Amino acid sequence: VFILGIETSCDETSASVVQDGRVVLSNVIASQADIHKRFGGVVPEVASRRHVENITLTIEEALQQAGKTLDEIQAIAVTYGPGLVGALLVGVAAAKAISFARGIPLIGVHHIAGHIYANRLVTELTFPLIALVVSGGHTELVWMKEHGHYEILGETRDDAAGEAYDKVARALQLPYPGGPHIDRLAHEGNATIPLPRAWLEPDSYDFSFSGLKSAVLNTLHNASQRGETIEPADLAASFQDSVTEVLVEKTTRAVKEYGAKQVLLAGGVAANRGLRERLSKRCEEKGIPLVIPPLSLCTDNAAMIAAAGYISYQKGKFASLDLNGVPGLPLS
Ligand code: ATP
Ligand code: MG
Ligand code: FE
Repeated sequence: VFILGIETSCDETSASVVQDGRVVLSNVIASQADIHKRFGGVVPEVASRRHVENITLTIEEALQQAGKTLDEIQAIAVTYGPGLVGALLVGVAAAKAISFARGIPLIGVHHIAGHIYANRLVTELTFPLIALVVSGGHTELVWMKEHGHYEILGETRDDAAGEAYDKVARALQLPYPGGPHIDRLAHEGNATIPLPRAWLEPDSYDFSFSGLKSAVLNTLHNASQRGETIEPADLAASFQDSVTEVLVEKTTRAVKEYGAKQVLLAGGVAANRGLRERLSKRCEEKGIPLVIPPLSLCTDNAAMIAAAGYISYQKGKFASLDLNGVPGLPLS
């Protein structure tokens, strides 16, 4: 079964052909990051217009690289939420147009389900499992009993992990998106600056990153007031240490409490070296199998959407042509 995936929820226009939800035949990503860089974040109106310009070529390129024509595609899977509504609509409209014109079934995919299913492009999933989803807009611990079943054990009460990375990067005058820059700096420094850990209530699986972000800003501010300098690499290392410690400890606690057989790491922040290393070490100690997607499948891409869409395909869960973009679409 060949599925054409389409993703336009934020600032990546992406199309992909995936076989049986497991094998990536193509994964074309047109990133707009360079355009949004000078604004220090994604400008929704600019993103939508760029998607419109790129979508047709991106889809054609994905089919060509896969060596497939639309006649050989069994279904079209498209992200319909959450995300920027104007951006989502471009992908949804393109998917509906192809579906209608060629009589190919349409599948609506939740963007975060896509991030989670990026892991199935690496290895088969083993249930029950815990997925740690860390991205630009989400930080969630997700419990999965079976394919397509999602239960949120905890989530962020304020900023998402990626958002915290981007805000701290901005304070350190690093370019957008800041996550990769902080990650690089962190490896050059030492975690010597005391910063808080937001554990919240002892039994809570929720997260909070805004206090940590404020603490970083205060540290910078206080140092400059005193005429001292803070080594940016040490601050980045200390920030990363706080973020990854809380993420990894809460994930391990959930694994134990729920008896998970596998841990998945998902979302753009899964590209973070510090997090990958720390979680790998902890899962190894606990003897629990961990799956981490390669960097190219961590950030937004359409292969993960096609992979998640395959589960709906198998269940015969198709969308009708009135499918709409839903900015606040819930996962469970
Ligand atoms: P969502 O998936 O929640 O809708 P999004 O699609 O915008 O949000 P992703 O593309 O999944 O987010 O991830 C982008 C985020 O990942 C950005 O905040 C970026 O800074 C962060 N990120 C990317 N690489 C790294 C890294 N190496 N370390 C930390 N953060 C990173
Ligand atoms: Mg992006
Ligand atoms: Fe994403």
